Amino acid sequence: MFPHRHLLGIEGLKAPEITTILDLSEAYVAQNRKTNKHLDVLTGLTQINMFFENSTRTQASFELAGKRLGADVMSMAMQASSIKKGETLIDTALTLNAMHPDILVVRHPNAGAVNLLASKVNCSVLNAGDGRHEHPTQALLDALTIRRRKGRLHRLTVAICGDIAHSRVARSNILLLGQMENRIRLIAPPTLLPSGIDQFGVEITDNMEEGLKGADVVMMLRLQKERMDGAFIPSEREYFHRFGLDEAKLAHAKEDAIVMHPGPMNRGVEIDGTLADDINRSVIQEQVEMGVAVRMAAMDLLARNLKAWRMRDAEVMV
Ligand code: ASP
Repeated sequence: MFPHRHLLGIEGLKAPEITTILDLSEAYVAQNRKTNKHLDVLTGLTQINMFFENSTRTQASFELAGKRLGADVMSMAMQASSIKKGETLIDTALTLNAMHPDILVVRHPNAGAVNLLASKVNCSVLNAGDGRHEHPTQALLDALTIRRRKGRLHRLTVAICGDIAHSRVARSNILLLGQMENRIRLIAPPTLLPSGIDQFGVEITDNMEEGLKGADVVMMLRLQKERMDGAFIPSEREYFHRFGLDEAKLAHAKEDAIVMHPGPMNRGVEIDGTLADDINRSVIQEQVEMGVAVRMAAMDLLARNLKAWRMRDAEVMV
């Protein structure tokens, strides 16, 4: 049902596997709403969170997810680690591997770093965001939110707006929503589109009115200034005027369109603050709630296979 050792990206996941994660997540959404949230699914297992880049939602929800499932969870403060003394990523990984973790959750500023690390350890690795590459659990939690709100995850028109070029969230969402046969529209100034994006089967425009027309879902992205090495927009004021989501622009989408944002938000830059807080349109808080459930489901599914993978490794080594 979910024959993977790691969760490194949406790339490589088949539609039924995505559905398997989302279906299991539903059970965890219900569990998380109970007063007693504790389960024994990961009891005895050790989960280490290594975040080499700042995070609020992702780190907190992976930590809660592991604790609610009964794992021994350790979150490393990577700023204070030996990486600062010059240790390489691989040496850090091998050191941790020697302590026999079962699950490693890794965020890293470089695309591909998490895949590299996964090839060096003998536990399950979950990618919590690597550079501009992928952020699979974000796309899964977005998918769960959409499926719950729209009653399905196919044949929807999804507009993804803003800084696509620097966004791993956009990339993972394009892969997932495409795999589930949705219509994807990217709305961005040409400077914020990655090269080669037209090969992903998406529609592209730099006009919000055109892009939002008939959309079921409007997904806004943060301007990722930390990944910009120059001026990509004339000014934030001008950007909000053309690409910031407000009531007037949203009126072009379907009447029941939902508004999403992965956070952290720049209010007044890519989204109007009042709209972001409007519980009739915005599902931003629900995305956060779904994040915990999706991460519980992902770790649960990976842990089910772990023993079998390790036995296979042992046979290969003999
Ligand atoms: N939190 C998301 C990420 O880590 C989105 C963002 O930072 O804008 O990619």
